[in-house]
Amino acid sequence: MQKSSAPTGPLSRRTMLAGAAALAGTTAAAAVTAVPASAAPAASVPAASGKPGRGARTVVFRNVRPFGAAATDLVVVDGRITDGPAPRGAKSVDGGGRIALPSLVDAHIHPDKTTWGGDWVSRRPAETIADFVEQDVELFRAQTRSVGERAYGLMSHAVSRGTRGMRAHADVAPAYGLAGVEGLAEARRRLAHALDVQIVAFPQHGVIRTPGTARLLEEGARRGVVDMIGGIDPIGFDHALDEHLDTVFGIADRHGVGVDIHLHDGGDEGVRAIRGIIDRTKALSLTGKVTISHVFCLPALSERDLGALATDLAAQDIALTTVAPSRDLVLPVARLREHGVRVGLGSDGVRDSWSPFGNADMLHRAHILGWVTDVRLDEELADCYRAAAHGGADVMGLPHADLKPGAPADFVLVKGQGLPQVVVDMPQRDFVVHGGVIVARDGEFLS
Ligand SMILES: [Zn+2]
Repeated sequence: MQKSSAPTGPLSRRTMLAGAAALAGTTAAAAVTAVPASAAPAASVPAASGKPGRGARTVVFRNVRPFGAAATDLVVVDGRITDGPAPRGAKSVDGGGRIALPSLVDAHIHPDKTTWGGDWVSRRPAETIADFVEQDVELFRAQTRSVGERAYGLMSHAVSRGTRGMRAHADVAPAYGLAGVEGLAEARRRLAHALDVQIVAFPQHGVIRTPGTARLLEEGARRGVVDMIGGIDPIGFDHALDEHLDTVFGIADRHGVGVDIHLHDGGDEGVRAIRGIIDRTKALSLTGKVTISHVFCLPALSERDLGALATDLAAQDIALTTVAPSRDLVLPVARLREHGVRVGLGSDGVRDSWSPFGNADMLHRAHILGWVTDVRLDEELADCYRAAAHGGADVMGLPHADLKPGAPADFVLVKGQGLPQVVVDMPQRDFVVHGGVIVARDGEFLS
């Protein structure tokens, strides 16, 4: 989440976030966009139903239980679920009675910052945002592995945990140039058969307060490396609401990309930023291409204010994302969806300078969502899973992998009794299937 401004009080990344919300009386959300994923599954020609055509690639996953229901066969033709019969001699995989569930989508993650797969890093105390950013840069420079290698390690691990798509943020600042987005682009190319990735050029160090950043954002968009331009707390961190948003939206408009803005600002500052985002989305006809991430100002709003804001967000089809950081900061997913707002769930930073935590496992994140929202009922647990699977798909503009005919054959097979129990127990993903192809087995990515 990479908070921007330091609230008063003692300080870890998590308490900074909580402190910000307490001070402001609000919470943050996340960003979204309907930009098509850059890397489509290798074989995704629609073949929703009927007989497989000549030369079609057919795989039958036998003895699986969709959402924990009775055992059946899932027939996959050219990367999609079909209700047609499997041709004689089609390739067959024994599901062993495992539960089949939709693969997951991580709507907000920072693979460029991660130390995943490397030595343990001991973090030093940090009191202010400047401290965090300084340690960010130090850690980046201390890495012996390239961004591309580290990101590939984390992203392929995410695939092994059942992730089919992710919105990946990469820091863009003079301290790094475009190394972050280029590293993510390299990892995306290597994983094109297994994972749909959108890349956000994220100005972690500010757009206005750090000269040279806007030029780099523009260059990233011009090169076609990024799908979206990011932003961060236009008021609380960059202290220039209009200039910040005009710069970010201007670049997006000129290059036909989306926008995904980190917004931790609470209270009135957060709401004013949202209003500024809504206004520019409408003025530039970027409807459906804008996301706001975290949105810590939103959960504390009154029912009436939340309804009014959600209505205006939905009118511009502006999506939100949350990483479910705490009870007070998690977005009210169900209420927002009732208003027609797309909401995705994400990991945020994973084992980076900001936090030793995180694992890029979206089933675990669904579990965390259930934990922080204190759910008990089966349907509530299932909703947490749906937020982790379909919520992010909505944010990224991907079709739901809902196991219905015509859906992309992106699913996981796990041992268990049913979906609610799976959210609680988080079993190993024995099979991860992407576009009908097994891309991970027994928890290991198949490169
Ligand atoms: Zn973030």
